[in-house]
Amino acid sequence: VAYGTTVRTHLLNVPAGRMSGLADQPSHFLDWALARREALLDPPWVPDVGPSAFLPRRAYGAYLADLLEEAARAAGPGVGLERVEGEAVDIRRTAGGYRIDLGPRGALEAGTVVLALGNFPPGDPVLSDARGLRSPRYLANPWAAGLPGPVLRTDACLLLGSGLTMADWAVSLAEAGYRGRIVVLSRRGLWPQVHEASPAPCVLPGPGERPRTVRGWLRWLRGAADEGGGWRAAVDALRPETPALWSALGETEQRRFLRHARPYWDCHRHRLPPGVAATLETLRASGQLVPRAGRLLACREAPDGLDITLQPRSGGAPEALRVGAIVNCMGSESDYRRLDSPLVRRLLERGLARTDAHGLGLATTGEGRLLGLDGPQSSLFTLGPPRKGQAWETTAVPEIRVQAAALAALLLEGPAGGTWDPEPRLPPVP
Ligand SMILES: Cc1cc2nc3c(=O)[nH]c(=O)nc-3n(C[C@H](O)[C@H](O)[C@H](O)COP(=O)(O)OP(=O)(O)OC[C@H]3O[C@@H](n4cnc5c(N)ncnc54)[C@H](O)[C@@H]3O)c2cc1C
Repeated sequence: VAYGTTVRTHLLNVPAGRMSGLADQPSHFLDWALARREALLDPPWVPDVGPSAFLPRRAYGAYLADLLEEAARAAGPGVGLERVEGEAVDIRRTAGGYRIDLGPRGALEAGTVVLALGNFPPGDPVLSDARGLRSPRYLANPWAAGLPGPVLRTDACLLLGSGLTMADWAVSLAEAGYRGRIVVLSRRGLWPQVHEASPAPCVLPGPGERPRTVRGWLRWLRGAADEGGGWRAAVDALRPETPALWSALGETEQRRFLRHARPYWDCHRHRLPPGVAATLETLRASGQLVPRAGRLLACREAPDGLDITLQPRSGGAPEALRVGAIVNCMGSESDYRRLDSPLVRRLLERGLARTDAHGLGLATTGEGRLLGLDGPQSSLFTLGPPRKGQAWETTAVPEIRVQAAALAALLLEGPAGGTWDPEPRLPPVP
């Protein structure tokens, strides 16, 4: 999803030096990129290739494909990678493991299953009148199309959300010569910060001195931000330890964080590559891009566009606006109860999985075992985005590569006693 894009302005938001696919070989991606330096250079987007460069996501896709090919080639005897195309629509427990139903494409039997489900498209906004969302002018999945396509032919468009997907869209619209108005609507009008090198690293408090509350961490962040390294160093210092800090906060404080601090965390933690930030700034300064703080209330189809009503955050009467298109840039839907995925629905219905306490993904153990209604599933795992509720920081490559390596090691060890699940705790569903 992230790296299948073909758009040159869609850049990684993590510097190349930190994007190795292999946790134990930190420069693996950088070396791959340096070997292809001439092909990757693409000013002004990619003026250089080095550890602090923000390279195109499509290049990272090619890197991952190479890495997978290489792993398949180097696999030991008896180890094979088989690619099966199809949608898993159901999964059920069997005596020897699981049966995965692929609909018209048949079924697969597996002793162990890893659900690498990734990022689902954003959920639709909840509106008092949502009829316009059925129009082709509403792009529900911002990652589905390569180029802006029909949006380019409009006089004004609305980007709903002001995070990195908004930045992708605004920059690719500008790059494709779009002349219309780009209205960016977000609840608080917050804007992603830009990546900058920190003058000095920041050190986290020792385990015994760490705050136990969100308020305490905020106080620490403010203090650390005033020191030599600045706020970026402080935020970055939290990152490798985030899963442990998140779990130490406990459910009540986690909830407090989500309610009050999350939008501020998101725009400081998920930062823009400098070239992207500069383009956004130019668009803003020229008046073509108009950030708005408020809430979308309604969206109706009109003969030549979409009539929207928005409630400005500053108060006052709702405003009416006509736009040619809306792109949903609100971020991946993580509430699995709202997902339009037959597989997820069946997983939850069968009790093989349950959502985490905050509705951010699936409940798991520390090693990524799914927690079902009857407890940990011994041979059903997940990693990456579905573990957000359990680890908070789990959607980017630096975290996923560590989880993947740990999970691979666990699976290689094999289950105690020869089979993962000698006695399924739930009877197989006929
Ligand atoms: C737009 C975008 C940009 C990002 N940029 C960066 C970045 O610059 N740096 C960084 O570190 N991280 C970035 N991330 C985050 C991170 O890289 C992703 O979270 C990560 O790639 C997830 O990988 P994945 O393999 O788990 O999931 P995905 O890449 O989302 O893949 C999941 C796959 O599972 C398939 N699937 C789901 N359900 C089923 C089913 N029932 N049957 C069959 N197949 C199914 C989907 O079709 C999809 O192909 C970005 C994420 C996004 C969305």
